[in-house]
Amino acid sequence: MSAPHVVVVGGGLAGISAALDAADGGATVTLLERRGKLGGLTWSFKRKGRWFDNGQHVFLRCCTSYRSFLDRIGATDMVHLQDRLEVPVLAPGAKRAVIARSSLPAPLHLLGSLARYRHLSVSDRARLARPALALRRLDLDDPALDDVAFGAWLTAHGQRREAIEALWNLIALPTLNVSADDASLSLAAMVFRTGLLDATDAGDIGWSKVPLGELHGEQASRALAEAGVTVVLGATVDALDAATGGARVVSFGDRSIEADALVVTAPPEVTTGLLPAGVLGPLDGLGSSPIVNVHLVLDRRVTDLSMFACVKSPVQFVFDRTDSAHFGDADGAAEGEQCLSISLSAADADIGRRPEDLVSGYLDALGEVVPAVRDAVLLDGVVSRERSATFRAVPGSGALRPGVATTLDRVLVAGAWCDTGWPATMEGAVRSGAAAAAAALARLGTGVKPELQEVAS
Ligand SMILES: Cc1cc2nc3c(=O)[nH]c(=O)nc-3n(C[C@H](O)[C@H](O)[C@H](O)COP(=O)(O)OP(=O)(O)OC[C@H]3O[C@@H](n4cnc5c(N)ncnc54)[C@H](O)[C@@H]3O)c2cc1C
Repeated sequence: MSAPHVVVVGGGLAGISAALDAADGGATVTLLERRGKLGGLTWSFKRKGRWFDNGQHVFLRCCTSYRSFLDRIGATDMVHLQDRLEVPVLAPGAKRAVIARSSLPAPLHLLGSLARYRHLSVSDRARLARPALALRRLDLDDPALDDVAFGAWLTAHGQRREAIEALWNLIALPTLNVSADDASLSLAAMVFRTGLLDATDAGDIGWSKVPLGELHGEQASRALAEAGVTVVLGATVDALDAATGGARVVSFGDRSIEADALVVTAPPEVTTGLLPAGVLGPLDGLGSSPIVNVHLVLDRRVTDLSMFACVKSPVQFVFDRTDSAHFGDADGAAEGEQCLSISLSAADADIGRRPEDLVSGYLDALGEVVPAVRDAVLLDGVVSRERSATFRAVPGSGALRPGVATTLDRVLVAGAWCDTGWPATMEGAVRSGAAAAAAALARLGTGVKPELQEVAS
């Protein structure tokens, strides 16, 4: 008997992960991607000889599926993972604070640095214990948590505005892409618990040392080719005929192919449009939340920090991308210059602003926290904007997220917007892709790796 044919629509992290797992499980796999490259929402572009990412991406040590995915595509050496969580936190006119962990068991591992966290008053620091302990007592499986706003919950647990802005938002904004005030308690509790409160090393931060297009797109292309997956780029799937009991027919342009099972990993609005009405719930309620990155190329080094966060400033997180910008250059980084990327989550206020205003505004704001910036000459400033970077992780969003199974036999969906328990992250995308592949293989009666079976069940 010939191997069943699994067709994956979309070549983001969910689609790549589904395709690799389906191929590893014994299926013949075709991956159809609309764009000319793989990687979906993680991509890079070159300008004036330097590489920039569409947006800084980070992961945590607890992102086990994403880290296995990096292993699978041979990219683990291309990322940096902190030995121990350490985030310098800068504020205008104030001394630096650091959020770091010790090796004590969680949650004691954060106690020392939070006790010294100078951007909060001593009384605000003392009040942090109450919500931290209450978060640890929440039942993350309780659906009622999704009806509650995290900000209101924090206030009810003794947190003042200053603490929400100078501490809780430091973690809520980059992980949930909405402010603590707007976030669903369900997702916020999952993030704080899984990333910080339940295990000592879970929150160690990782990021790519190379452009994202290389880390994901190029590496995945090689891994998919080695796994025997047929990748068709520039293939915009415009119709699915999945209602007829037998083969699923996937059409793109003037071509059609037949599939025994189908995994659709396009964004929610595209996926609902492709599937027959009623197969998925009304996903438009998930909404979207933007991320903006402002990349500044300075003529000199202004900081030795590879990454830092800011409070009491419009600047959120800053990453030194100098080496990545010069990836592939024969002579390495251009002498002396520094490329800093300012990552702005929940960027509703900035998404519509003119790039030149964003560059000059954030250059000034960065100078407030890193005074050496004021003496530097700006060699280049570029803005990348993603209007629909993630769904809006607000109360009620959890109930809208579908699982990977649909009402159609052998038609699965995947994507960071699916119900993985994780916010819209690389980890969520990879998990959903793996779960969809496992479900497809199980329905086809093809060999499924035991660890995938677990994810899908
Ligand atoms: C600026 C930015 C910063 C981020 N920062 C982080 C971070 O720090 N950490 C983190 O974990 N996550 C982060 N994320 C989120 C993360 O990038 C996404 O959750 C993840 O990449 C989504 O992967 P996906 O495969 O679910 O979806 P996508 O990447 O959206 O992939 C869907 C794919 O389907 C393709 N497609 C669409 N329509 C069709 C069609 N009709 N036919 C064929 N193909 C189609 C698309 O071209 C795309 O390649 C960030 C996102 C952005 C935008």
